[in-house]
Amino acid sequence: MEKVKDLIEKLNPEQIKPVLETEGAVLVIAGAGSGKTRVLTTRIAYLVQEKGVWPSRIMAITFTNKAAGEMKERLDKIIVGAEDMWVSTIHSMCVRILRRNIEKLGYGTNFSIYDETDKDKLLKRVLGDLHLDAEKLLKPAKNAISAAKNDCMSPEEFLAENRGLRLADEIYSVYAAYEKEMFKSNALDFDDLLYKTYILFEDFPEVADYYSEKFLYIHIDEFQDTNKVQFYIAERLAAKHGNIFAVGDDDQSIYGWRGARIENILSFDEIYPDAKVFKLERNYRSTKRILELANCIIAHNTGRRGKNLWTENPDGVKVETFVGTDENNEATYTALQIKNLMARNSDLSYRDFAVFMRVNALSRAYEQEFTKYGIPYRIFGGFRFFERKEVKDVLSYLKLINNPKDDESFLRSIGVPKRGIGDKTLRELREFAAANGESLYEAAGKAVFSSVSSAAASKLGGFKGLIDGFRTYSESHTPAELIAYVIKATAFNEQFAEQTEENTSRLYNISELLNSAEQFVKDNAGADLADYLNSVTLSSDTDDLNADNSVTVATIHAAKGLEYRCVFVAGLDEEVLPILRSGAEEDEMEEERRLMYVAVTRAEERLYLTRANSRYMYGSRKYMRPSRFLREADEVLAPEKKDARGGYGGYGDRAERAYRRGGYGLNRGDYSRAEEDFGDDVPSSGGYSSQYALSMLSGGKPAPVKSVSSGRGGYKTGARVRHTKFGEGTVIDVRGEGDNIIVNVAFKGVGIKALSVKYAPMEII
Ligand code: ATP
Ligand code: MG
Repeated sequence: MEKVKDLIEKLNPEQIKPVLETEGAVLVIAGAGSGKTRVLTTRIAYLVQEKGVWPSRIMAITFTNKAAGEMKERLDKIIVGAEDMWVSTIHSMCVRILRRNIEKLGYGTNFSIYDETDKDKLLKRVLGDLHLDAEKLLKPAKNAISAAKNDCMSPEEFLAENRGLRLADEIYSVYAAYEKEMFKSNALDFDDLLYKTYILFEDFPEVADYYSEKFLYIHIDEFQDTNKVQFYIAERLAAKHGNIFAVGDDDQSIYGWRGARIENILSFDEIYPDAKVFKLERNYRSTKRILELANCIIAHNTGRRGKNLWTENPDGVKVETFVGTDENNEATYTALQIKNLMARNSDLSYRDFAVFMRVNALSRAYEQEFTKYGIPYRIFGGFRFFERKEVKDVLSYLKLINNPKDDESFLRSIGVPKRGIGDKTLRELREFAAANGESLYEAAGKAVFSSVSSAAASKLGGFKGLIDGFRTYSESHTPAELIAYVIKATAFNEQFAEQTEENTSRLYNISELLNSAEQFVKDNAGADLADYLNSVTLSSDTDDLNADNSVTVATIHAAKGLEYRCVFVAGLDEEVLPILRSGAEEDEMEEERRLMYVAVTRAEERLYLTRANSRYMYGSRKYMRPSRFLREADEVLAPEKKDARGGYGGYGDRAERAYRRGGYGLNRGDYSRAEEDFGDDVPSSGGYSSQYALSMLSGGKPAPVKSVSSGRGGYKTGARVRHTKFGEGTVIDVRGEGDNIIVNVAFKGVGIKALSVKYAPMEII
């Protein structure tokens, strides 16, 4: 066990203060990489080791499951009994509370959690039942309902708040009907996990009191992204003792669209007037150059508390910029740069790299180029494993077994594999069920008495019998065994019998589902079916970021709290990052700028900002303008370009002029002119045009950053060598002195390897 004294000794005096400040409300407001998360973890260790607080009385709320996992792992090493602590996302914590108490609200503890697709399907049905235009109303209704729940508003409160506004009446009726259906199905959506906990705390204060007495110390990481309902829950949990410890950074608030309120952090000290507020300004993560850029970018925002991060880390290498001719060219640059850096730095591995982007769609070019160059990668922020159709199909059986009232899961499972039950039968079943106030599952057993034909009724009854059989099975088997049984008994995989690429991948996913369920059973002894389903529904695609040695390709939203040695921020174009069109509200633009800030502050040693002159977007090729954030960063990226008129002649202005003059986008001719304007001399304040940079990176010449061609230890660029394992190759770079000479060799069929001459002498041939 590590000693907390040793941990504290490693902190700086500013970091130590909040660690020791154990009672009352404490807010640490500090910039990226200043050690907030580390302070939070150390404080928990201090509470247990020095203050004798039982781990079971401590709660920590993190933003992602991954962060929770990391924190648990960390605490396990410092604290005996760390498993009794509640360290989780707020959603998981609420599920835990609801599973014990939701019966008070009339739901069963075996409630289902509906994801976005389930929600969409139900909303479409509700809109249909209300004779409203699903095409027009689905999205606004869905957003409004979500926003209302995040703002703690019931349908009636929503109406009272919005009366007279366009669509308010329609949305009210959809919201009310949706809630009724959800209740009938014993189902909650993601927002409900918080909102229903709020209702539970409001209507049954003794429940809130119980938790507030159980947990004496409440910790919240990434506090800037809590929204109203989340803040309420945290406040309520701290109500009995007032021990709430929040860390956050107003400059990293990036969930405004989900109702996160920056005012929470800005007004923490108003809500807790005796709160002690601490600032940390020393950054431990990034080089001086990276930090200078981050500071410069965020300084353009006005709604901030204001702080200036500094670091004692080395200056580091220059922040590089690159302009590709198009998105593939941009990705090629990244691929080659990664290859090059790996070859030149034997201590770097693929897991040290990340490419961050504003939108998922940009990942396609990276998939293609990384595959081409043999770079292992993982994409996050895309399609989640548990949302794949075939996986959801299997899970819908489990959900129905667990919660027979779950009508969405009933409708899904009855249709896959096909059992000859048509839409008409299902419609009649729904009517029958509605008339009797029953779930579809219950009604299926009795449909024989309804208007449903006898053949159809026996099929429905057969399906119900099948599910009943599964339920009995589940009582004495693990979730993993149940999945295997369901797949077998329904002949689920027969639908994928034909050998196509798609079927192969579906079968693969099914077997992955089985594997992951087996793993779950191993990791969670005694967990039941409901536990399994909750964990599956709450797992997110960032959970296993970096699980193996591959480059991370992720959205910026998924990047929170993480750090990587080398970071590429892709798509620095107007209308990509920032995603908004010009003329957007300033506060929305500030949120985009915070996203940019989050992205660049993930980098420890190297940072690359890339963009493309043209992109295929919305069905056609579009010419892109450089992101305003590049221009704003010009004084750091290209101080030498500051011209006599006081403008910056680099990245932004010239591109901007070219854009105004040329109006790219008409034909190939315009495109060449764009090349002329951006391509040859503007592309990067760090310095290389796309062609030059690419040829330098790929042409077997030494990389542009530093070129050494003199012979060292007898090795010379261009020399042929033989390695015992890799065979024959050509030396492409030699670095270092004495015992430390590293030679980069391109081996045929193996690729470029960085080899230490000391440990792996090679024969020169
Ligand atoms: P973010 O805003 O991105 O969430 P953060 O403020 O939570 O960042 P941490 O992740 O806690 O910052 O710390 C950033 C890095 O600096 C981590 O690698 C951490 O271990 C390291 N670090 C923090 N404090 C110190 C310290 N006093 N000495 C050495 N390293 C430190
Ligand atoms: Mg952090």
